[in-house]
Amino acid sequence: MTSASEQVVVIGAGVAGLAAASQLAAHGLGVTVLEARPTIGGCCGTTDLGGYRLNDGAQFIMLPQLVGLVLEHLGIDPARLPLHRARTPLQTVLAGGTQVHLHADRRVEVLAGRIDAGKAQAEIERMLLRWQPLLKVLAGDDWLLKPIHPLDAARRMGPHLPLFTRSLQSELEGLFSDPALRGVMAGHLLFAGAPARRFPAPSILALVSVLADGLFVPEGGMGSLPQVLAGSVRARGGTITPGAPVDRIIRKPGGGFSVHTESGGPLDCRWVISTASPYTSLGRLLQEARLPLSWQHRLARPRLSMKVLSVQLGLRGAVGTLSHLNHHLPSPESMESYFAPEPGAVDWVYASVPSLVAPGLAPAGSSVVELYPAIPQAEPTEAWTAYRREHLAEAAIEWLRAREPFEVVVRRVRSPQDFESELGLSGGGIYGVDPSAGFTALFPQRTPIEGLYLAGQSCFPGFGVPMAAISGIRAANLILKERARG
Ligand SMILES: Cc1cc2nc3c(=O)[nH]c(=O)nc-3n(C[C@H](O)[C@H](O)[C@H](O)COP(=O)(O)OP(=O)(O)OC[C@H]3O[C@@H](n4cnc5c(N)ncnc54)[C@H](O)[C@@H]3O)c2cc1C
Repeated sequence: MTSASEQVVVIGAGVAGLAAASQLAAHGLGVTVLEARPTIGGCCGTTDLGGYRLNDGAQFIMLPQLVGLVLEHLGIDPARLPLHRARTPLQTVLAGGTQVHLHADRRVEVLAGRIDAGKAQAEIERMLLRWQPLLKVLAGDDWLLKPIHPLDAARRMGPHLPLFTRSLQSELEGLFSDPALRGVMAGHLLFAGAPARRFPAPSILALVSVLADGLFVPEGGMGSLPQVLAGSVRARGGTITPGAPVDRIIRKPGGGFSVHTESGGPLDCRWVISTASPYTSLGRLLQEARLPLSWQHRLARPRLSMKVLSVQLGLRGAVGTLSHLNHHLPSPESMESYFAPEPGAVDWVYASVPSLVAPGLAPAGSSVVELYPAIPQAEPTEAWTAYRREHLAEAAIEWLRAREPFEVVVRRVRSPQDFESELGLSGGGIYGVDPSAGFTALFPQRTPIEGLYLAGQSCFPGFGVPMAAISGIRAANLILKERARG
């Protein structure tokens, strides 16, 4: 058995915690992953219900090259995670009648409205030409995984710095001449949770990567990635304990920690990586430790990402009018109303059909549909009573029924309050720290408490399945470096 001086406790078995644990176990450290929920995967997990497999959070993988990078870095054969590319189009319907499909081969199809398809196609190609080189720099190498020398960063990023000077809004205005097409493009970026004027121009890379590299769902669903990572942790001698919510991290005199769970006895270790929200990790779990004022201020004023109401349906039969990802949005001029819709009304909806990409998620010939009606963002999670949640879910189901005949076989509804209590998402913010607050709002892996590291979507490089996994590997690499120093 590894001595306590070589032990690491990882809090949370999402992709960040499991990637960290795999990396540490590969280097011979004793690793115990403690997970509050009865299952692993966190926001990248899945739940089986009545023959349907529902996503617990993430619905698709963007930037597949980064998933490849993570697996390669961890020494995991990528063949263990076959990915299905979404071939079906992205669909956008704007108030006022515009309806556009963006196909996986980058083709624009205008089904309704006055957008000139030829011109739109040329403008999309121009966007790709302008932004793909930066995407290659950011996602095409392993620099996110290790500290980079400032001179090297300057050499790589220097030629692209002019792209950073404007907002996403003005970038979209410069690229797309037709306001309706601009609305379609902005609509595909609303998933980040704020209007385009609040993001810097490089946020457009999320759209560029979808068109250039595609959207993917792993064979067996999103939960296959944490399963593959967990397999590597166990194969390397690490332990994963679900159903073990950590309630205290106590610093021991002389160094190291004692990590307490609600159910089992304390675990002694030299290092802790917490992938629970930093607000939970440092604000609630860590005991008897004084943080510098700058950290106290930061923890006291959380800037959190968007909240959602999720209505997941297992339907008998196939859906005909929906594509893989579907946005039903306000007109381009009033796009911001997406974030402050009429309470109780279902006017704007994001709907996805994961079973179109991975048919195995539903019984043969059936479908899984996820509905995300736009909800007011400026509300505390407590505003989401069960009555309100069910009322809006019914309205969302009626919204879909007006477009499709269907029979519901299984149904799961989660409000921001449920995301907070079930997945530990502080304030219900589904991506942790607000992405529009920029990289500097993200937490570093290293905390002011020696031996305590943070990882997960609120830490650099940020939210999204591959990014969260990378943050875990970064935390593990810092521990490996510290261990090498003795
Ligand atoms: C609704 C939704 C949709 C999303 N859509 C996408 C998408 O399509 N594509 C994409 O790339 N990303 C998407 N994301 C974001 C993505 O899922 C996350 O960025 C990523 O999965 C975060 O991984 P993580 O390991 O950092 O955190 P988590 O997955 O949150 O893992 C943290 C784990 O820690 C556990 N935990 C918390 N507190 C404790 C404690 N006290 N003791 C023990 N365990 C604890 C939690 O139970 C959880 O399992 C989505 C997220 C949500 C919620």
